[in-house]
Amino acid sequence: MSQPPVPINPQERAATERLAEALGLPSFEPGWVWLAGAGPGDPGLVTVLGLHAVTQADVILYDALVNEALLKLARPTAELVYAGKRGGKCSTKQSDISRTLVSLARKGRRVLRLKGGDPFVFGRGGEEALTLARAGVPFRIVPGVTAGIGGLAYAGIPVTHRDTNHAVTFITGHGADGKLPALDWRAVAQGSPTLVFYMALAHADEIAARLLDAGRRADEPAAFVSDATSGEQRVHVTTLGRIGEEAKKVDAPSVLVIGENVRLREGLDWLGALAGDRVLNPDPLGRAKLKDVS
Ligand code: SAH
Repeated sequence: MSQPPVPINPQERAATERLAEALGLPSFEPGWVWLAGAGPGDPGLVTVLGLHAVTQADVILYDALVNEALLKLARPTAELVYAGKRGGKCSTKQSDISRTLVSLARKGRRVLRLKGGDPFVFGRGGEEALTLARAGVPFRIVPGVTAGIGGLAYAGIPVTHRDTNHAVTFITGHGADGKLPALDWRAVAQGSPTLVFYMALAHADEIAARLLDAGRRADEPAAFVSDATSGEQRVHVTTLGRIGEEAKKVDAPSVLVIGENVRLREGLDWLGALAGDRVLNPDPLGRAKLKDVS
């Protein structure tokens, strides 16, 4: 599971140490576990505190969704341990990971548990931290940019926008038993205009059926954002009525967003504009007011 350490340029280390000092970041003490989010894909989206943790840790246990470029900034002597799933296979058991964290901390190591996105958003970070609490191991939580917010931003879809939604709901499409979670789907459908699903591909058909049943419109805009924020990002814009079909053409990891805010992508797909693939429409909702016009 472990890999040979990667050498690091000493100037890079000096820079991160200066940053830590200038910002007054906490020092990573031996015997502690830091549970940190790496962000959704683009390594630039890790927080400064998360980066600090990477440069200080003695051991890093990282998940499949963590961009491995970040690991190049680890200490040359740091042990890098892969502890995730790939292609749904070779899953390291959750209880094994928690046990490993406890035993490494008890050996006096600085242990970094690095997870994709934010560790407390559908990432089992809470379970791991509770194990640490039970074992009396001191820990710190370092939040990260979650795919359902940062991924949408890279797709040019604001997760909230005053003209479209004053609320947003984050939902997992995959319960612990592998089924669609037993939510009150009527409440979900009516509760907020924008719904952001994680792990929605397997049950996209069923999600659409529940929402349509509860009165959401089949022609509501929806989008899958896959490999969000990585160089491989893909966005499939569709409608709620078609998400079941569309999901078959989409690869994991993907987030699914349903709601009128998806229309804003026409005006805010800054990545598409950057690549020269798209001319942005400054009034994607067709609501320009006179005062907005220069
Ligand atoms: N803790 C993570 C979520 C882990 S659950 C976070 O805060 O982002 C795993 C699910 O997250 C994936 O199935 C997918 O729905 C979503 N996800 C994570 N990274 C993603 C990415 N780069 N692009 C699209 N979806 C992503």
